[in-house]
Amino acid sequence: MMGPPGSGKGTQAERIAGSQQLAHISTGDMLRAAMAAGTPLGLQVKEVVERGDLVPDELMLALVDERLQQDDATGGFLLDGFPRTVAQAEGLAKVLEGQGVPLGCVVLLSVPDDVLVERAMARGRTDDSEATIRHRLGVYLEQTEPVLGWYEGKVPVYEVDGVGEIDEITERIQSVLDDAD
Ligand code: AMP
Repeated sequence: MMGPPGSGKGTQAERIAGSQQLAHISTGDMLRAAMAAGTPLGLQVKEVVERGDLVPDELMLALVDERLQQDDATGGFLLDGFPRTVAQAEGLAKVLEGQGVPLGCVVLLSVPDDVLVERAMARGRTDDSEATIRHRLGVYLEQTEPVLGWYEGKVPVYEVDGVGEIDEITERIQSVLDDAD
């Protein structure tokens, strides 16, 4: 599941993983948990995450590789917030190839920039985190959007309108996945 920061991809990924009985693998959640617990990984990534920059590819790939080997992921998984760079997509392809697991599809939750900014403002962010949100959007456009082009022709990429009610958006994603089956 891909989408710009503030697109609601975490919320939707959780719902879809639940209904499709997939392991929900959110790299953002994993990093936040490591930071909250103060693990070596958490301490290592804290500054980068708080700045809104991306954690190095090698580190992310090692984290996801290990996570994919856990029991619950063997029945199917939904990656949320990963891959975020072309290098991560390439690394993931190698990991999955090694495990003999195909990647089913990519769902892109698309939300126009002005709506993302509106949503961020509605949440009453301080100036400081508003700047971080804008920075994260820039990082997404520069480093993550090219991932979609990389997947084109390799796996189906479904673009779903991410503007509307939460339930309505979940239904849109479900129907795209049902049609793909
Ligand atoms: P998210 O909750 O997916 O928006 O992720 C929160 C933050 O965690 C991001 O702004 C990044 O700093 C970091 N992060 C999460 N996933 C990745 C990834 N795949 N590659 C690099 N950094 C990541």
